[in-house]
Amino acid sequence: MAINLELPRKFAANIDQARQAGLQVFRPISRKYDLAEHDYPVELDTLAALYDGLAAAGQAGAGAAGGRGDTQERPEGYNANGGNMQSIINSMEASYGDVGLMLSIPYQGLGNAAIAAVATDEQLEAFGKVWAAMAITEPSFGSDSAAVTATADRDGDEYVLNGEKIFVTAGSRASHIVVWASVDKSLGRAAIKSFVVPREHPGVTVERLEEKLGIRASDTAVIRFENCRIPASHLLGSPEVDVKKGFGGVMQTFDNTRPMVAAMAVGVARASLEELRSVLEDAGLEIDYDRPAADQPAAVAEFIRLESDWEASYLMTLRAAWMADNKIPNSLEASMSKAKAGRTGTDVTNKAVELAGTVGYSERSLLEKWARDSKILDIFEGTQQIQQLIIARRVLGKSSAELK
Ligand SMILES: Cc1cc2nc3c(=O)[nH]c(=O)nc-3n(C[C@H](O)[C@H](O)[C@H](O)COP(=O)(O)OP(=O)(O)OC[C@H]3O[C@@H](n4cnc5c(N)ncnc54)[C@H](O)[C@@H]3O)c2cc1C
Repeated sequence: MAINLELPRKFAANIDQARQAGLQVFRPISRKYDLAEHDYPVELDTLAALYDGLAAAGQAGAGAAGGRGDTQERPEGYNANGGNMQSIINSMEASYGDVGLMLSIPYQGLGNAAIAAVATDEQLEAFGKVWAAMAITEPSFGSDSAAVTATADRDGDEYVLNGEKIFVTAGSRASHIVVWASVDKSLGRAAIKSFVVPREHPGVTVERLEEKLGIRASDTAVIRFENCRIPASHLLGSPEVDVKKGFGGVMQTFDNTRPMVAAMAVGVARASLEELRSVLEDAGLEIDYDRPAADQPAAVAEFIRLESDWEASYLMTLRAAWMADNKIPNSLEASMSKAKAGRTGTDVTNKAVELAGTVGYSERSLLEKWARDSKILDIFEGTQQIQQLIIARRVLGKSSAELK
């Protein structure tokens, strides 16, 4: 099947909406919420109301995260270009406005992408419209997601959750939290399942919020679960523990969330590139695409290099989403997009600070903020090193025991 990366025309209105939200709602308040970490951006309520209206009218809105595309059988060669592609593009546009605020958009949580990846049709019906954060990381581990210690014990028609989760993005604002916990520790990683837990629920306590380098508009919470009872139907996907299949079930989550984070990096990098272009032009440096980069001023040659890295990140991210929409396994490409875009986001935004000099380093522009904001996109949902490890394992055909 040939890959068609032309953006479907049906997304045009949606892209425009997300871009307008990014430019007209986010940008004017970017600095305000960077300086006022932990304050709730009330302006997002208006946006949430707008999305509710769009959802009711049958349009996705910029808040639709990680859809699975439609599930109809299609003739061979059909290009679905559905829900994942749409979420990715929305995420890029909103992050072009402000990635911290983007992470605070109601219904756009990383947990929403997790639900879209793993939920059954009934669960999609039940949880498709909640605002979900994602809670994997614990005090005892970060990268090694198989080391989950939180437990979910079955008791009749309920599960009882116990454990502590740290660094939960949108953890104090989202209506729900997708929590990874083990249903039977003696069965190892295969017993790790994800559960949808309402945030305002007996046994759920938001302990505190982190103070951070970047994405300060986004809340990052420590959450404790103590004898928290939820209906058994809140376990996402199949409750069966298949020791042979191992970790596959919950890990599918990352096939959706990694391209989503890559898209955020693509969005913030584009913001920096545009600002840098205008700074260079103000300094009298024109970017000439008809001449070899090596024949142009060093700053221009560097700009062209950054832009080509950005283009590669953009295309790899679209490819990962396109594959998901066309039901082609995309774990390798999801990690590749995250590795490339995460690295490029950091590179572009930091180089932009450097090349823009005083304008880049001071608070006169948002360049220094974007350099701080982009760093997390190369850390959460799997660090740069972890993505490279996963890619190497897949390319070389090695298991996690063979290549650590
Ligand atoms: C602002 C913010 C928001 C976050 N949001 C969320 C969220 O919403 N939900 C959630 O569950 N978590 C979240 N996290 C946690 C994040 O996913 C982890 O920080 C990340 O997975 C890395 O884990 P760690 O910090 O414990 O680092 P470690 O796992 O301790 O790693 C430390 C270093 O070692 C490297 N490393 C580790 N293992 C290997 C290996 N095998 N080979 C080579 N290098 C290796 C890592 O790349 C890293 O550089 C968030 C973190 C931050 C800072």
